[in-house]
Amino acid sequence: MRYQSFNLRLARLREAAQNFGWQEVLLGASAQGRPIVGFIQEGGGQRILAWSLMHGNEPTGYEAILAFMRRPKCESSYFLLPILNPDGAEAFTRFNGEGVDVNRDARAQESAEARALVMAAKRFHPHIALNLHDQRPRFYPEAGSMPATFSLLAPKGHPDVPTPAQQQAQIKAQSILARWTQLLLPSWEGGLARFDDQFYPTAFGEFFQEQGIATMTIETGISLGDWSRAEAATQLTHLLTDLDTWQEEAVMDPGPYLALPMNASPANEWVIHHVNGVLHLRLHEQVAAGVYSCHWMVDTWLDQGPTWMESRTTHAFGSPPVGEVFTTEFLQAAGLVPDLGLKI
Ligand SMILES: [Zn+2]
Repeated sequence: MRYQSFNLRLARLREAAQNFGWQEVLLGASAQGRPIVGFIQEGGGQRILAWSLMHGNEPTGYEAILAFMRRPKCESSYFLLPILNPDGAEAFTRFNGEGVDVNRDARAQESAEARALVMAAKRFHPHIALNLHDQRPRFYPEAGSMPATFSLLAPKGHPDVPTPAQQQAQIKAQSILARWTQLLLPSWEGGLARFDDQFYPTAFGEFFQEQGIATMTIETGISLGDWSRAEAATQLTHLLTDLDTWQEEAVMDPGPYLALPMNASPANEWVIHHVNGVLHLRLHEQVAAGVYSCHWMVDTWLDQGPTWMESRTTHAFGSPPVGEVFTTEFLQAAGLVPDLGLKI
């Protein structure tokens, strides 16, 4: 579900919480007055803190967490913040209601959302943190020819010389990601990548890794028949389920994770050959007056990287300026019908 209102998303979480034994905790309020809530379930095992919709137009992690909450019984202990950025989620924007990128606010903690996440960690004392995001369809594994459906990262806990605890946390995160790499490979071969672990001091991944919490960032992307990322969400739920019974191993091997190709960008999302040239388009999603729609935007990129879709038409497009947006109806009138598997 690419877009739902905040109220509907919260209602779905509360229904799951009521039916499957999750306790709701209020952690703050957004600038526009929406509650920032978490859901707790205390079991044994690992203590896992996970959040999604930190960027309000990246909902795949939310769908995965919601499906995970609907399971009968957890082995591990959880503190879940599925709608960390309520105003951004309502508006379907990256930023919070005051224009802040919450994932650049880990140190300053000027936003209510950053403070809520820090409060959750202080209260819960997690061993593992999961930072769930979406990435744009134009990302792909370096030298690959299809979108990166899963891009994984175990960020650094220190820019230069980590303490033993910081190093141990990163190796633990890398090892879980290595396990997940092997779980993902049979179904998603060619669609897996990893980010470089350049140290971003104001990001939450680095902030928690620094504290010795094994932190993983997962960016879900499209696959060629699944631009809505519904299949990616289902797969992400399977990874959360796998983590639920994961036992820390004496010898951890990050090898399969480290062997993944790096995440690269940008690919061409759609290339159209028309009678007097070539048009490069990319998907443009928006929510206006509570209604989601997607269009195509003229892109700056010319013949670089792989291409997800390629079409030919006898229509003449002229030279539309970069940033111009075409509706699907307009493109259909030119005889072009994109099939995106976009189940909104
Ligand atoms: Zn994000």
